[in-house]
Amino acid sequence: MSAEYQVNGSVAVITLNNPPVNGLGLATRTAAVDGIRKALADDSVKAIVITGAGKAFSGGADIKEFNSPKALTEPTLHTLINVAEGSTKPVVAAIHSVCMGGGLELALGCNYRVAMPGAQIALPEVKLGLLPGAGGTQRLPRVLGLEMALNMIVSGTPVMSDKLAGTAMFSEVFAADANLVDAAVAFANKVADVRPLPRVRDRSVDYPNHEAFLQFSRNTVKAMAGPFPAPLECVETVAASVTKKFEDGLKFERERFLHLIQTPESKALRHAFFAERVASKIPDVPADTPVRAIKKAAIIGAGTMGGGIAMNFANAGIPVVLVETKQEALDKGLATIRKNYENTMKKGKLTPEKFEQRVGLISGTLSYDDIADADIVIEAVFEDMGVKETVFRKLDAVMKPGAILASNTSTLDLNKIAGFTSRPQDVIGTHFFSPANVMKLLEVVRGEKTGKDVLATTMALSKKLRKTGVVSGVCDGFIGNRMIEQYSRQAGFLLDEGCLPEQVDKAIEKFGFAMGPFRMGDLAGNDIGWAIRKRRYVESPQISYSKNADLLCEMGRFGQKTGGGWYDYKAGDRKAYPSQAVNEMIVKHSADLGVERRKISDQEIVERLVYSLVNEGAQILDEGIALRASDIDMIYLTGYGFPLFRGGPMFYADQVGLSNVLMAMEKYAAGLHGEAWTPAPLMTRLAAEGKGFNSQA
Ligand code: NAD
Repeated sequence: MSAEYQVNGSVAVITLNNPPVNGLGLATRTAAVDGIRKALADDSVKAIVITGAGKAFSGGADIKEFNSPKALTEPTLHTLINVAEGSTKPVVAAIHSVCMGGGLELALGCNYRVAMPGAQIALPEVKLGLLPGAGGTQRLPRVLGLEMALNMIVSGTPVMSDKLAGTAMFSEVFAADANLVDAAVAFANKVADVRPLPRVRDRSVDYPNHEAFLQFSRNTVKAMAGPFPAPLECVETVAASVTKKFEDGLKFERERFLHLIQTPESKALRHAFFAERVASKIPDVPADTPVRAIKKAAIIGAGTMGGGIAMNFANAGIPVVLVETKQEALDKGLATIRKNYENTMKKGKLTPEKFEQRVGLISGTLSYDDIADADIVIEAVFEDMGVKETVFRKLDAVMKPGAILASNTSTLDLNKIAGFTSRPQDVIGTHFFSPANVMKLLEVVRGEKTGKDVLATTMALSKKLRKTGVVSGVCDGFIGNRMIEQYSRQAGFLLDEGCLPEQVDKAIEKFGFAMGPFRMGDLAGNDIGWAIRKRRYVESPQISYSKNADLLCEMGRFGQKTGGGWYDYKAGDRKAYPSQAVNEMIVKHSADLGVERRKISDQEIVERLVYSLVNEGAQILDEGIALRASDIDMIYLTGYGFPLFRGGPMFYADQVGLSNVLMAMEKYAAGLHGEAWTPAPLMTRLAAEGKGFNSQA
């Protein structure tokens, strides 16, 4: 059922019923329109109440209908609002819990709105790169005034219903213990005979000297919106509520909405929105797979990652014990955690009570016996198979049956690690990103024998820890680091061929990356990549690398922590200054290779860096290491600073067109380091079929 119809005395009550949040899909819209018409045709009915069943009045458009012709099938949301607004009997929206987007636009089309306190009222379309397209930009200023409506529409942030009591938004905000439907029916009876019917569209927006305010808003919003066009379009459409007649304002809103929906930025935001939702779905692990309870956690290793991971558990209210081999290391780890929380408290982002609560949830020990009863243990010791083997054999011996044994390894073979235990079904990879208490991404590594319930539990845990969990199969570097390896190789080759670090960084930062590869290397420590390459020189001698990064490390330039890396740094200053010594080293290395350095365009830099990600991503997808292209995008958006407005590497490649990407790759394959450009077969196949990564299904 999508909406229920009941008559209560002389009031018809239409209850939207489309779980989970009464999205205004076609069936719900149809039932609501039918309900209003039925009430109008019934002489015994004097007024109409529209409310929502369950957890919301309405969360707005039904996301299942996004990009579907159903959204445009009659009755559309516009029609529903017109029917409500055109009713000859008063229509009362009875709001509770959530009233957002199209739900709020419908409520604004009603003659009256009444609400429970604590209901979230919002027009969040801007978060998807859009603007409210069903009259919201014209009606909200008419009830809340120009300034408040503009703030709500530009930010998309919810405001509580009780904060809006006393405005023209609500005729009444009831007491917390009221029965909404009873109170709304009583209200409807009270106003049943009031004529003319009040309509939001008939109100005017008065704002003295509105032009000055609007100009100020344009300037502020433009400065904050970055590459996204929607916030400024929101200002312009809200402006139309003052400068144009209602109908003309609506037309203008429609026109700008249709423009925004076609912009690459909105497409990217909508892609990211769906990508995040779909990432938690695993085809062979049904949504109702039973999960194990996680009431206590343990972390092995209180270093950089162990400490950050422990904070995630404490932040989620789960007690966590850190295990170290030496008291000194344990004390240092616990002190760092305390300091991190203290800094957050100093910034006013954590109350003293919460500080005590969180610190109180974290304890330390040198004995594995103290963690035997933990429901999950995450190993975060040195990246060395020997050390991991010792730890996992020990965990297998001490942990209670049913405990999840997780590893934070970033490169090692999880199947081998699982093989050190007698319970490989309980072993999983939880690859957190640094700083682990801040970064959203959690790569969840599914081993050959990982149990489905263990996977489901870990994915559910990632949500509890407020992370974006994305599943990866087992391979060297998993999804994210395996791809970034190709990107780093290209960055190195660009130095051999004619670039300097700042040119590469500037070009890719202009494309939108938070940080270029060389500034990033200096921040993370160039010695990490050096250690990985040394291993690869032995294990995979066929893979070529630029020697520049090794030469840099041989000079002891590991990055910010050593006062110099690809760039020079001044004490107490993270700003990167081009280094004459490094630039001379790079130029000399080209000469040693016999390479004539050439001028390289920013376009070439961006294409080589981004397409190297795309090509490896395609390979990863083809191998089944990633479940879907959008998972790869999620990993890059949440863990690697890929620009959100471009939607992730795979989505970006789809926008460019895979045949265009392949054409560029062919060009680079004919260049100096052509060996890195063998196209992934999946990409060639899809390009030949005129498809993209995200449209292959
Ligand atoms: P780290 O050197 O900062 O910390 C490792 C800690 O483990 C040290 O405090 C050490 O004393 C402790 N330790 C070593 N052997 C132990 C044992 N047998 N029992 C208990 N404690 C032991 O290292 P890190 O950067 O935190 O990395 C830990 C793991 O996380 C590695 O597998 C690494 O590849 C992975 N990782 C690191 C990053 C990163 O950016 N640093 C990101 C993702 C994953």
